Parts: sequence; structure tokens; C-alpha cells
Amino acid sequence: MAVKGLGDYDDGNVFAKILRGEIPCKKVFEDDFSLAFHDINPQAPVHVLVIPKGKFISIADFTSKASDAEIAGFFRAVGTVARMLGLEAPGYRVLANMGEHSLQEVPHFHVHIFGGRPLGRMLPER
Ligand code: AMP
Repeated sequence: MAVKGLGDYDDGNVFAKILRGEIPCKKVFEDDFSLAFHDINPQAPVHVLVIPKGKFISIADFTSKASDAEIAGFFRAVGTVARMLGLEAPGYRVLANMGEHSLQEVPHFHVHIFGGRPLGRMLPER
């Protein structure tokens, strides 16, 4: 079910469990601010999620409440991960779902990095 993207942080969400080491992930990268791991249900040959270590529900929550250091550290990690995965030359897509209209499912802010093949139009035709 889609989440609202705002409100109280749910410590029981699946990415909070990954951050606490309670469930495994296929880790790609980690630093003080961020963790990156392969999506469990990949939608492209490369589909990696990058999440901040802080408790933020969505991009709306993150950009309003995170410190400048957390925001800078996080977005630097997104670029670093894409580079590490060899996606800069062919190109890639970064996507963040926020709230009900986007069908955000996991209420811990994350960006998706997609790559490994031509990705087509940004949004499906209606
Ligand atoms: P979103 O709809 O933007 O909230 O995307 C949530 C993403 O998390 C989906 O692409 C899921 O496949 C992915 N996901 C859910 N649980 C896990 C997990 N345990 N490990 C890795 N990815 C997951």
C-alpha cells in the first residue's frame, strides 16, 4: 500500500531493519550518511537503492528536516554509487517516489538508480 510520505517515522519499516542489520541486503556502498544496496525486485539490469542513515520518511521529509551535511553527503553518495557501478558513460536514471500519487511503498527515503540498458521515456504513455 502506498504511504503518505509525511508524518511520524515508522521504525518497523524494512529499510530501518536493514540499517539495524536485522535483515540482510546486497550492499554496494556505505559511508557515514548513506547505504546503497540492490533492489530485491529489480526493474532494470542495474537497480540499486540509496538510503540516508537518518530517519526520514520521504524526499519531502528529508529536504525539510535533514542537515546540510546529511543532504550533501547523501546526494554525493548517489553520484558515487552510479560511478562505482559503471553507469556514467552509458547513463542512468535516478528516481524518488514521494507519497500516495507516486505509489511510494517503503516509508524511509530512498532513491532508485536504474541502468544497464536504454531506459525509454521517463514516464509511461497514458
Ligand atoms: P518505492 O515504491 O519507491 O517505495 O520502492 C520500494 C522499493 O524497495 C521497491 O523497488 C522494492 O522492490 C524494494 N524493496 C523492498 N524490500 C526490499 C528489501 N528487503 N531489499 C531490497 N529492496 C527492497
